[in-house]
Formats: sequence, structure tokens, C-alpha cells
Amino acid sequence: MSDVLIVGAGPVGAVCALALRQQGIDARVLEAQPEDARADTRTLALSHGSRLILDRLGVWDTLVGVTPITRIHISQRGALGVTRLSAEEVKVPALGYVLSYATLTAALKQALAAADIAVEYGVTVARIESGVEAAYDSTWASAHSGSESFRATLHGADGRSRAAPLVVVADGGRSEAAPAPKFERDYKQMAVVCEVQTELPHANQAFERFTPEGPAALLPKGDRYALVWTASNADAERIVALTDDEFLAALYRHFGGRQGLFLHASPRKTFPLKLAYTGSDAADRVVRIGNAAQTLHPVSGQGFNIGLRDAWELASLCGDTAPETLGAAAMLSAYARGRRVDVLGGVGFTDFLVRVFSNDIAPLRHARGLGLLALEMCPPLKSFVARRMIFGARG
Ligand SMILES: Cc1cc2nc3c(=O)[nH]c(=O)nc-3n(C[C@H](O)[C@H](O)[C@H](O)COP(=O)(O)OP(=O)(O)OC[C@H]3O[C@@H](n4cnc5c(N)ncnc54)[C@H](O)[C@@H]3O)c2cc1C
Repeated sequence: MSDVLIVGAGPVGAVCALALRQQGIDARVLEAQPEDARADTRTLALSHGSRLILDRLGVWDTLVGVTPITRIHISQRGALGVTRLSAEEVKVPALGYVLSYATLTAALKQALAAADIAVEYGVTVARIESGVEAAYDSTWASAHSGSESFRATLHGADGRSRAAPLVVVADGGRSEAAPAPKFERDYKQMAVVCEVQTELPHANQAFERFTPEGPAALLPKGDRYALVWTASNADAERIVALTDDEFLAALYRHFGGRQGLFLHASPRKTFPLKLAYTGSDAADRVVRIGNAAQTLHPVSGQGFNIGLRDAWELASLCGDTAPETLGAAAMLSAYARGRRVDVLGGVGFTDFLVRVFSNDIAPLRHARGLGLLALEMCPPLKSFVARRMIFGARG
């Protein structure tokens, strides 16, 4: 019997299990994918704050193929106003790091095995039964004398059930067991993602370019750029159907010539963009973290990093909690309170950027230009915004 059951061995679930182990808490992870599944080709942008978390877990030094971002150039197409952020100004070694999802999950998988954390692969959690009174279990009770005998139960598609005082759902919000979000916004946009080669070397500079159709980001990755091109659903479908040459020319028209010509592009993929805030209810011994709790638009790369902070903060709180109150309503309320400012701040900031920048209304265009200019002219404000994006906010 484990103290904590985690649904999903994605980056957030795996980091949570490792951080719990550092706190001396035993977690078992259930992962729907088989052990030998190939991770998909998506790219992640980690903030410096996320690097610190992976460092403390001993994972950072095992990662290969990580590209630092030392400068970010932020602009809007067809209007004035540019802001440049640099790692030097913010006094961090890098503003962020770009790596593939496959690299990160492979390193985390090794770390889970090295820490002897049980992961059951190929087990899909079909249903979560929250906070029911469990039958008396003498083994668990003797290890946690005085504890409430309340647990949440996971029902697997394999027909087996597993129970624990605390269930952490880190399923990316994609499982059938996920409840309806408390707040949802369909941006009716898709991200077109691929890797592109530019005429000029990236020199570790990332670009975020706002256009009326949505933001486009170029993130340095190896000797190429990872592209995240946001477009309306119809435009995204048209973009992925273009031939390589047509695509490269369209990207040049869309993004501009700051990096010279676009020379090559890998096959394009799309994923839908929405805001979904599900959060957790404190009373049921179930807590949702990472994308299971909040799925954000990728602009400014907030979502994934908030998810890692969820995992880290939850594990720290579990470590500070008496064993008999692990998963109790008071503990989960404290977790929700502690995360509110960071999570809702990230949700609000991301949603603001998407809605204010994805249009061509003249007064807003000028206001945006002034905003970018003000940020550029005011180093303390720029540093504040950058640090907020790197480390998150605390209540
Ligand atoms: C298609 C796609 C493309 C993306 N591209 C980008 C990008 O280019 N850049 C970027 O920064 N972010 C991107 N994101 C977002 C990024 O992937 C997420 O922020 C990040 O992966 C969240 O981590 P997580 O661990 O919370 O969830 P996930 O990475 O989704 O991991 C969830 C894990 O739970 C497992 N699982 C799901 N359901 C169950 C179940 N019922 N039982 C057991 N296990 C289960 C899954 O197999 C998976 O391993 C993309 C997301 C998607 C969906």
C-alpha cells in the first residue's frame, strides 16, 4: 500500500513522484502507455525555475540536447513596439531551456527506476472514486496510527482497484476520468508545430511575434528553431497542407526576415488551443496537478512550468504534513490556497496575451505598441515581468 497514488507518468507526475520520494513519502505511479511506448515529438520550453526543480531532483545533469535561451525578442507584426529580454538583465544563466518532450520523459523514467519508485505501465485509470471510507487495513493503520481511514480509490481498466490516502491526478487532462473544467475557453485556434532551419544562426535568441491571427514563437533548439505558429482552425489546416516550399515562403511572410530566409522545415503537426481550468476539490482526497488542473495556450510558455511548480509545491507540503493527515481536506485546502496566486496569475496573464494581441483593432494595436515600448524603456519593470514568468508568483 502506497501513501500516494499518481495517475500519469508524464513530466508532472514523474516530478511529483521523485519530489515525494525526497520527502520520504512512498508513491506509486500508474501510466496508461506501455513501458516501451515512443514519446511524441513535441518540444517543451522550461523556465529557469523549472531547471532548479530538476536540479534538486538530480535530473537536470542527465538531460542531453538542451538549448538555453539567453535572449528573447518580442514584437508585433505591422506596428511599433519591441521588447528585448536578456538573461544578463534578469541575472539568471538563461531565461529558459528548450528540449524535446521525449528527452525529458526518458530522463525522468530513468530517475524513477533509479529511485526504485513503482511505475505500473499499461494501466489506464478508468474511474476515480473519491474519499470513500475504506475497509480497515491493519498494515496501513499500524504504519499511520491515529489516521482517518479515508482513501480515494482508482479503478483501472485492467479490472483492479488501488486505494491510497492521497491520489494525485497528473493525466494531462486527457483521460476519460477527468471532470468537466470549471472554466473553459476555446480559442478556435490551433498551434502548427515543427522544426525549421533559418539562414542566420539563432545565437540562443528566441522570438515571440504577435500577429492579428495569433502569436508565433521561434525557440532555439539544437542548430534549428522549434516553431509554434498559432492560427485559426481553418488557417492551420491550410498551413499544414502546404508543400515545403510554400510553407517556408508563407512563414517568411508571416514572421518577417529577422533570421533571414527559412531554409528547411520538418513535417508539420497541429494541436488545438484552449484554456481549461479544472482545479481540485479539497474534500475528496484527490488533487489535480499540471495540465490535469489547468491547460493553457502555449504563448509565453507558462502552462508546463506552472505544472512542474504544482508537483514540487504539493510534494513539499506533503513532506510538512503529519502522515495521518496526508490527503485530508485541510491539507488539500492549504495546497489550493498556496497555489492560487501562481496558477490564476498564469491563467489570467496567458489569456490576456491571447485576447489582447490576437486582433487588429487600431487603438489596441497602438496600446500594445506602447506597452512593449514601456517595458523596453523600464528595466526594473522588464526584470519584474521576466522573473514572474521564470519563477511564478506566490501568495
Ligand atoms: C499534442 C500536444 C502538443 C503540445 N505541444 C507543446 C509544445 O510544442 N510546447 C509546449 O510547451 N507545450 C506543448 N504541449 C503542452 C505540454 O505537452 C504540457 O504542458 C505538458 O506535457 C503537461 O505535462 P503533464 O505531465 O501535466 O501531462 P502529459 O505530458 O500530458 O502527461 C500525462 C500522462 O498521463 C498519462 N495518462 C493519461 N490518462 C491516463 C489514465 N487514464 N490513466 C493512466 N495514465 C494516464 C498519459 O499517457 C501521459 O503519460 C502540448 C500538448 C499536447 C497535448
